[in-house]
Amino acid sequence: MNNKSIQQRLKCHFYSHFKVSDSTFFSAVSPQPIDSPSWVSTNVDLAEMLGISADELTSDECLQLMSGDLTHNDINSFSAAYSGHQFGVWAGQLGDGRAITLGELSIGDSEELWDLQLKGAGTTAYSRFGDGRAVLRSSIREYLCSEAMHGLGIGTTRALCLTTGKTTAVREQVESAAVLCRVAKSHIRFGNFEHFHYANNPKAVKELADYLIQRHFSDWTDNPKRYYLLLENCVLTTARTIAQWQSVGFCHGVMNTDNMSILGDTIDYGPFGFLDAYNPEFICNHSDHQGRYSFKNQPSIALWNLNALATCFSSLLDTHEITDCLKQYENEYLSQYRTIMATKIGLLEYQPKDEHLINQLLIMMAKDQVDYTLFFRKLCDFSATNQTVRDYFIDRDQFDIWAKGYLQRLAAQTLSDKQRKQSMQQINPLYVLRNYMAQMAIEAAEKGDYSEVELLLNILNNPYIAHPEAKKYEGLPPDWANTISVSCSS
Ligand code: AMP
Ligand code: MG
Repeated sequence: MNNKSIQQRLKCHFYSHFKVSDSTFFSAVSPQPIDSPSWVSTNVDLAEMLGISADELTSDECLQLMSGDLTHNDINSFSAAYSGHQFGVWAGQLGDGRAITLGELSIGDSEELWDLQLKGAGTTAYSRFGDGRAVLRSSIREYLCSEAMHGLGIGTTRALCLTTGKTTAVREQVESAAVLCRVAKSHIRFGNFEHFHYANNPKAVKELADYLIQRHFSDWTDNPKRYYLLLENCVLTTARTIAQWQSVGFCHGVMNTDNMSILGDTIDYGPFGFLDAYNPEFICNHSDHQGRYSFKNQPSIALWNLNALATCFSSLLDTHEITDCLKQYENEYLSQYRTIMATKIGLLEYQPKDEHLINQLLIMMAKDQVDYTLFFRKLCDFSATNQTVRDYFIDRDQFDIWAKGYLQRLAAQTLSDKQRKQSMQQINPLYVLRNYMAQMAIEAAEKGDYSEVELLLNILNNPYIAHPEAKKYEGLPPDWANTISVSCSS
């Protein structure tokens, strides 16, 4: 652990770097604290990774800081300027309307820096008509899902702690406000580049690219191909993250370019959802009437977004270099997705003929509305003598035909059933954050009971092993889960 406090360790890297720029990369702003703050949850595991002791994290000073009260601190807090395409349409300037970055926390002696950002700590220069607040309900969803994604091994922004208090926010009704401390290697979005590109400011585009290279890819600083490498990295990491989303049944819901991280991490958890029954047409955002961001559209939307980003690199790269970067997306996505899906069904390596096996399975699952997470977890136990997973299907004859081919494929590799089960259980989670689970935690939290948030945080951090205390979350979702509706209003 570090001897210095969080406040002492906070750098103002982004702030100092761009303060001297001719272009406006951010706007300085102080958070507006939550009235009578109290903890909803503290994430001790993440704190440890950041070198923050449990005592410091849960202290009164930290509560004050994390609920937006910087009275006794000399912190250059700011909100960043960005623009973006929303639902395929240029939306112009957006920016951190309710997110305020405190600075970057340095980890030990390494050069690694993590942004600390408060979400919901009041209005900023980019709030437009918004109140700068986030309600407890949506903050719990973001808090839990960031950590659930991390637990699944998927690149994501993290969540250090969540506070609430007497401050309220008006949505469809008056609700408790909350402040989430979001932690990320970078909060820079595709939209930060678009902001300057569409303002006809290639100098600022270059400044932003240089900043990213200096902070995250310092080995490339003198490389003449550095801008190519930056764009290529974004293409490849995005492809990998989306392949992982598809493999766990995660639907983001608002894949606007301002919600896409330049490092390819999952960012901005709003109306997201995990699949219950496998349904490629699943739309988790009730405001998405056309289904632009449906589950099956995510891989191609990510490429659409990358195209929008790549356009901004036209002042840094030749057309053929840009095309070359973008061309890598499909291959990377497909090879990652195929490898993960092959591993999910217990294959040591993906072979071209496995595509049929995997596709057939997904077609059957969609037809019979088989629960995505439960099925793959149950499949870990599958063998010639144990085919109870068959019970998930209505059309059992069709399953038997598939199972015959699957058994043949398994027989062609040298792995015992026990070994296969072990490796499959490390990739097929027992728990994902289904909407109804978040809802249970929210309803209890709104009455002041945060124990369900704590329980979910614990199990989702480690979703591949059974947690006896969470047995209730190992089955199918209850019928009322279908009635939950999530939209952007948060
Ligand atoms: P989102 O759909 O959550 O990614 O938000 C889109 C834009 O609206 C971003 O610029 C947000 O910062 C802004 N925004 C969303 N909610 C609020 C709010 N309550 N107050 C101010 N700005 C907001
Ligand atoms: Mg956003």
